[in-house]
Amino acid sequence: MKFATAAIHAGQEKDAKTGAVIPPIFQNSTYAQSGPGEHTGYEYGRTQNPTREAMEKNIAELESGTHGFAFSSGLAAISTVSQLFKAGDHIISTENVYGGTYRFFTQIMEKFGLKFSWIDTSDLQAIADAITPATKMIFVETPTNPMLVLSDLTAIARMCRENNLLLAVDNTFLSPYFQRPLEFGADIVLHSTTKYLNGHSDVIGGIIVVKSDTLAEKIGFLQNAVGAVPGPFDAWLVLRSLKTLPLRMKAHAKNAYKIAEFLQEHPAFHTVSYPDLPSHPQHALAMKQHLTPEGHFGSSGMVTCIVDSFEKAQNILRKLRVFTLAESLGGVESLVCHPASMTHASVPVEMRAKIGLSDGLIRFSVGVEDIDDLMQDIDQALKGV
Ligand SMILES: *Cc1c(COP(=O)(O)O)cnc(C)c1O
Repeated sequence: MKFATAAIHAGQEKDAKTGAVIPPIFQNSTYAQSGPGEHTGYEYGRTQNPTREAMEKNIAELESGTHGFAFSSGLAAISTVSQLFKAGDHIISTENVYGGTYRFFTQIMEKFGLKFSWIDTSDLQAIADAITPATKMIFVETPTNPMLVLSDLTAIARMCRENNLLLAVDNTFLSPYFQRPLEFGADIVLHSTTKYLNGHSDVIGGIIVVKSDTLAEKIGFLQNAVGAVPGPFDAWLVLRSLKTLPLRMKAHAKNAYKIAEFLQEHPAFHTVSYPDLPSHPQHALAMKQHLTPEGHFGSSGMVTCIVDSFEKAQNILRKLRVFTLAESLGGVESLVCHPASMTHASVPVEMRAKIGLSDGLIRFSVGVEDIDDLMQDIDQALKGV
């Protein structure tokens, strides 16, 4: 099945009893057994739920994987991946990860004895230098949030194979429509489904997809043993949303490109970052990695730009009307955020300085509204800046 067809049909069969074309929401915690231990394959809601399974299979197929595991949030998915390891194990992580990922690794997992190296994973030599005999996994976010720095997945996957390490990729920013890390050799791909996969700002959720049976067995065990699973209604909402993923992603990218071009020309900004712009320092790598299933190049709706002070940023953010000032991203409605005081406030000031996350940085999550309204909104907010 091609991607757009899979987005609509994968993991879903017509309901056997009624022919309902959309899988029902199985809102139940347990299943009747005909005799002790004689069951239909469904025993208990944390362990198996048909609505959740449909969603897991759908995303697994879109990510070119074989097994999907759903979670109650993106962080619950990240937490479950880190429970593959034990005290003393070492993980190399992209230094500019989602703020909550950084907080989870440094404030929770370090307490349990996991060791982390925070590395600029766009620098292959820096990764090679950080590998020790205790290293077990490289955790990569590409492009990063909010700096939009890319890491070379093919090269890092090769490094992982040579050193017997797992490669996990947080693919939240692009969705499988624009990047499928398992195809580049990653072992684990994960998402906050809260963002593009659900895409309507009405669910918190997470997913892990793998392509190896051994890894699937381990993650499946953890999903049930740890128990951070989503409810059936949330799984159903994500499944509903996935049907329009290719349509939404194309519209996000088209609008974002126009906005990035416009911001780049405007004197108020000294840096505009969007991987599709030829001015992006890693544009060539983006063209190899950010590919739709049809082989076209494109990125998502995330654009960042920098003005020269917090006051200027504040001024613009207060004046925007169509763009809503809010955390999160990836919904059909346009959002704007000030990472230093919002999504990345939990990242220490020194780390923010190191990765270039300045107080003048503004992050746009460009939605799928009419481009004229979005441009007009930015234009009026920039008057006098
Ligand atoms: C939002 C986000 C997360 C965390 O997901 P939640 O669903 O909020 O727990 C992880 N990674 C990235 C890149 C994100 O944007």
